[in-house]
Amino acid sequence: MNRRNFLKTAALGVGGILLPAKDSPASVWEAFFQKYYREMNDKEKKDVVARLEREYEEKYKKHIRVKSAAPLPKVLYGYGLDLSRCVGCRRCVYACVTENNQSRNPQIHYITVLQFKQGEKWVSDLEESNKYYNPEEVPAPEHFYMPVQCQQCERPPCVKVCPTQATWKEPDGIVVVDYNWCIGCRYCMAACPYGARKFNWAEPTIPVEEINTETHYLGNRPRIKGCVEKCTFCIQRVRENPGRYPACVEICPVGARKFGNLLDPESEIRMLIETKRVFRLKEELNTQPKFYYFFSL
Ligand code: SF4
Ligand code: SF4
Repeated sequence: MNRRNFLKTAALGVGGILLPAKDSPASVWEAFFQKYYREMNDKEKKDVVARLEREYEEKYKKHIRVKSAAPLPKVLYGYGLDLSRCVGCRRCVYACVTENNQSRNPQIHYITVLQFKQGEKWVSDLEESNKYYNPEEVPAPEHFYMPVQCQQCERPPCVKVCPTQATWKEPDGIVVVDYNWCIGCRYCMAACPYGARKFNWAEPTIPVEEINTETHYLGNRPRIKGCVEKCTFCIQRVRENPGRYPACVEICPVGARKFGNLLDPESEIRMLIETKRVFRLKEELNTQPKFYYFFSL
């Protein structure tokens, strides 16, 4: 079922309360009847992007560019994380918040850094880890750290359960969400075994002076209350040509984070996968993450 049919059925079932008010401005109706992003032609995409830019300008009083760059040919993105280097400083968490215009109040974080005590059971027992550690200095003695974020699964269960197909896997492997198409049912959150998806329970807020004005339709453009969001490997950066690294890769002070094209046999990410002790999280679920943990030391 697509979103239009879903809304039609739902609206009939609940007496039309899901429709905008009769006297809503034209842009509200336009947004409500906006086509599914994957079915828009270039002209339709351009019109939607122009409308969004106008709306953002009105709301934030600054120009926010919304790109709709398509996937680059012959590219499949992969991510590497060196567990022997990560010191648990959480700089990646906050660089991601800034880059991706995540809500500051209420707070939304795409990356969670888990702390484990050496010798304790870990990979099989993520729930036992400490997410809220607060030592004077990192790394805390006898502890190690494991950042977790969207694993950009090759077989993403979040996509499979979405009743409106508001979320899908792009040809470059990035799992995206069309925020305007998401109905906020949160089935995808229940299906994701990595806790990677976040729901906007309230209107997201960001201080205007902190807004990143370089955005992508499928990534860090300002979100709305009631939609689900997640890491997109910084789609607004990596799809530039030449592409840029995701913000978390750029900020990491110890070089624990690696990123590149899995289809390029010369890339660093391929070298790591082929030469290091590598594992993927919850591999037994057959989600086939494109996020590889490894030990370089
Ligand atoms: S910035 Fe690097 S070292 Fe710090 S928590 Fe993130 S991955 Fe670990
Ligand atoms: S980690 Fe979760 S949100 Fe990301 S693709 Fe896999 S199932 Fe979907």
